[in-house]
Amino acid sequence: MDVIVGGGVVGLSVAWRLARDGRPVTLVDPAPASGASHAAAGMLAPVSEVAYTEVPLLRLGVASLRRWPAFATELAADAGLAGTEALDLRSDGTLDVAFGTDDLAALDELATYMEKLELPVERLSGRECRRLEPMLAPSVRGGLLAPGDAWVDPRRVTAALLAALDRRGVPLVRSRVGELLRDGGRVTGVRLGEGAEMRAERVVLAAGVWSAGLAEVPVRPVKGQIMRLRSPQPLLTRCVRGTVHGTPVYLVPRGDGELVVGATQEEMGFDTRVTAGGLYELLRDARELVPGVTELEIADVVAGLRPGTPDNLPVIGPSGTPGLALATGHHRGGVLLAPLTADILLGEEGELAALCTPGRFREIS
Ligand SMILES: Cc1cc2nc3c(=O)[nH]c(=O)nc-3n(C[C@H](O)[C@H](O)[C@H](O)COP(=O)(O)OP(=O)(O)OC[C@H]3O[C@@H](n4cnc5c(N)ncnc54)[C@H](O)[C@@H]3O)c2cc1C
Repeated sequence: MDVIVGGGVVGLSVAWRLARDGRPVTLVDPAPASGASHAAAGMLAPVSEVAYTEVPLLRLGVASLRRWPAFATELAADAGLAGTEALDLRSDGTLDVAFGTDDLAALDELATYMEKLELPVERLSGRECRRLEPMLAPSVRGGLLAPGDAWVDPRRVTAALLAALDRRGVPLVRSRVGELLRDGGRVTGVRLGEGAEMRAERVVLAAGVWSAGLAEVPVRPVKGQIMRLRSPQPLLTRCVRGTVHGTPVYLVPRGDGELVVGATQEEMGFDTRVTAGGLYELLRDARELVPGVTELEIADVVAGLRPGTPDNLPVIGPSGTPGLALATGHHRGGVLLAPLTADILLGEEGELAALCTPGRFREIS
């Protein structure tokens, strides 16, 4: 039996795909779907994220984005949902906008870089941007459209994964794992916080940033504050992002009229306080892109901890210790990378799996 430690979008996806494959699996989490996955905006946007990432991560993201439609269709069916609309999966692209001459030059440079990588991208004038998104500020002077980028509602995805696991009869143990059981250099199971032991042929450590408390894994918390605004009618039809005062900000529309505004990036340890300064900066910058946001009602504010790694790539696959596999370190892209992660835990090998191999860090055990 596989024991999956952690029920965020990553652990849930792995557990569900293993169960679908007919493998015996148990999930352990005291509060499933409460970690970074609860905070995530849900952008599936490897192309528009290229400015903030590196080519290996881009390749993982593009490969995982391709798997999302089938992943969502199968998940919706397994969870008893009508279709992928129930997960708010949308593929209308991301629009990256610029205001000043410097911004425009930076976007132009980015477009050239994207074209060199043969990524689909369209350069737009300010007027063309506003034709696509009439609520954009008049000061927007140009933009880049990444038409293939998509997004999904991570809270709906984790709820669907929990429902699908339940329908497949996968046991969910609502306890904290206190430690991994080890015997003769092998991981043989987990000890729950209350002291009970669970034996496993394989333990998959998918506890996000908390994985580092259970094994030697180089993940660190990168705090992100994010807010959800409620809009009587949708202000945007696609994801919009831009850089204001040197800081990136994005807006993600949900099917139910909600507008997600994110997100800060802070190295603050395990601090998950939502601060006035964090929210102020998000709203100030979002208003530069779409002035109408300040009229909207605040629905929700939250801070989550992204599991960052030294090279920004996730840590997925068998560890150096027999009986222990890892599925963590997804940093800014755990929702995007969930389908690919599950495939690697199901045994996919090759170039993509090699990029994520835990073996690249010597200290992992
Ligand atoms: C503000 C913000 C915005 C983001 N936006 C995006 C986005 O647009 N697109 C994208 O792809 N990604 C985004 N991310 C990143 C994404 O949220 C993460 O990469 C992803 O959620 C990581 O998932 P996870 O399952 O590894 O971890 P988590 O979701 O943190 O889940 C870890 C789980 O482990 C459990 N756990 C912890 N300790 C134990 C233990 N000892 N025993 C058992 N269980 C335990 C916790 O209860 C939790 O449920 C964003 C993150 C933040 C913070």
